[in-house]
Amino acid sequence: MDYITIKNLKIFAHHGVFAQETENGQNFYVNAKLYVDMERAGATDALNDAVNYGEVCLFLDSFLKEHTYKLLEKAVTETMQAVLLQFPAVSGLELELSKPQAPIPLSFETVSVTRSLFWHKVYLGIGSNLGDKKEFLEHAVEKLKLDQAFRKLRTSDWIVTKPYGGVEQDDFLNGAIEAETFLSPDALLDKLHGIEQEAGRERKIHWGPRTLDLDILLYDHKIIDTEKLTVPHIDMQNRQFVLEPLSQLAPAYMHPVLHKTISQLLAELQP
Ligand code: ATP
Ligand code: MG
Ligand code: MG
Repeated sequence: MDYITIKNLKIFAHHGVFAQETENGQNFYVNAKLYVDMERAGATDALNDAVNYGEVCLFLDSFLKEHTYKLLEKAVTETMQAVLLQFPAVSGLELELSKPQAPIPLSFETVSVTRSLFWHKVYLGIGSNLGDKKEFLEHAVEKLKLDQAFRKLRTSDWIVTKPYGGVEQDDFLNGAIEAETFLSPDALLDKLHGIEQEAGRERKIHWGPRTLDLDILLYDHKIIDTEKLTVPHIDMQNRQFVLEPLSQLAPAYMHPVLHKTISQLLAELQP
């Protein structure tokens, strides 16, 4: 993967836990690795096709000067998000913030914190079978669109489907959503639960009627199996109401466990 490196960019700023640090300020140094596809700039030689690293340095300088954080962890996290939002061609970055004059009464060269943040491709399943179903789906999509942790959002058609799982209930309206997010899988699930809750989601009967269900179908090509989260969604390959809309968005996407494309899984499911 192509990347730009910034080494030891010196920034005078006011981050720290102690009053003397926030009042007097001190020098910080930024090391960054910015992942950028350089195929086009490498061919055209045009600055417009490149991420301007001068602008990135100026942005880092003003961002870290304008804000004050107690912790390097928080400063790094906020700065990474700001860079991703400001420079859309940066697909991810690693950022080290170092503080050579940290208040430690010992001899040391520097202390630093390093984190990384990337845009991830995700596919979500969405469904409703209570109240104004279309309104629930569209409101949820609007919420995601307005949230800066998401970008490049696309939706499938909404399809009417019969209930799944043997509970007697109204028909569903189902669809799939494609997006990029910088949220971790756990943070994404929490965000989706928040949106479900705002839509008045209650969990009375498993697979029972619901105003809104938002499931993570795929997260990059990651395989996750924790108590809270199974990705790819554990039952997606058995669900027409998932595969049909998903195949509109990503027919060639390879299921990382079953090693079949969404189109193949759909074809195998159809009677
Ligand atoms: P199903 O997951 O079979 O479609 P459901 O969507 O009705 O059923 P929920 O009540 O919405 O089930 O979710 C129950 C729990 O499933 C959630 O609290 C969550 O922790 C867990 N879960 C595991 N994997 C996923 C996933 N990929 N997406 C969403 N929730 C998941
Ligand atoms: Mg579900
Ligand atoms: Mg669910």
